[in-house]
Amino acid sequence: MACADAGPVPDLFDAENQALQAAKSAHAAAAPAPGGEALADLIVAYERLLRETRRLVRRSDKAELEMNQLNTRLQDLAAELEHRANHDPLTGVLNRAAIIDRVNRMFAHQDLALIVLDIDHFKRINDSFGHPMGDRVILGVVACLQAVVPASAHVGRVGGEEFTVALPRHSGAESEQVAQALRRAIENHAFNLPDGSRVTASFGVCWAGAGGDFDSAYGLADEALFIAKRAGRNQVRQAAACLHAAEHVV
Ligand code: GH3
Ligand code: MG
Ligand code: MG
Repeated sequence: MACADAGPVPDLFDAENQALQAAKSAHAAAAPAPGGEALADLIVAYERLLRETRRLVRRSDKAELEMNQLNTRLQDLAAELEHRANHDPLTGVLNRAAIIDRVNRMFAHQDLALIVLDIDHFKRINDSFGHPMGDRVILGVVACLQAVVPASAHVGRVGGEEFTVALPRHSGAESEQVAQALRRAIENHAFNLPDGSRVTASFGVCWAGAGGDFDSAYGLADEALFIAKRAGRNQVRQAAACLHAAEHVV
């Protein structure tokens, strides 16, 4: 058992040792007398008891140390498991189930804006340059997302090349500005595709008040995204049904 200060470490059995030494001295100094042999036996037995007790204390300290180490490892594993259950392994952002759960929890007490984005002509990137290049493009898009969205945002991967950004305390107009900033960031990002082509994404935005739910808000944002795709891609569209309500948010 270590001591914090630099002084001598007190022995756990100091008092017992002193008693033992006193008994030994008394036994050595005394003239042979009746009962002297019993005292000698007692001293030997007591010494053995002390040795055995020290051994048990050492063993118990070691077991406690091992238990603490196992406990720390268990906590690390639980945290890792929790992270794996909620995050997408490729990009590290929230997975589909986790972003849906988080959005629904937030809707219980606050309004939210949802941005849904989908990489344009992504299949062509995979087909032309291979799946690993497609993965790198997905990672590049996530890097753009993380560089642009505010700290309060929650980012989730809801499909292969489709992401949702949940923005608490943002009006429809403010979230449209965030989506436009994202769109520009992706358009200007150096993805270094072999043919030098650019990567773009299309966006749908929807605002919903407290009490809303993921499915409804996502459905409206997805309709707006579909309109952005049909209008030529690389653009942001706001869900018409959300526009009016969003104007009231400060
Ligand atoms: P659009 O502009 O209309 O969105 O066209 P698109 O080609 O992006 O859309 P489509 O849905 O046809 O293609 C999506 C492709 O994404 C198909 C699928 O093979 C690919 N994909 C899904 N998940 C992954 C992934 O994790 N990595 C890679 N590299 N590709 C993926
Ligand atoms: Mg898609
Ligand atoms: Mg796509």
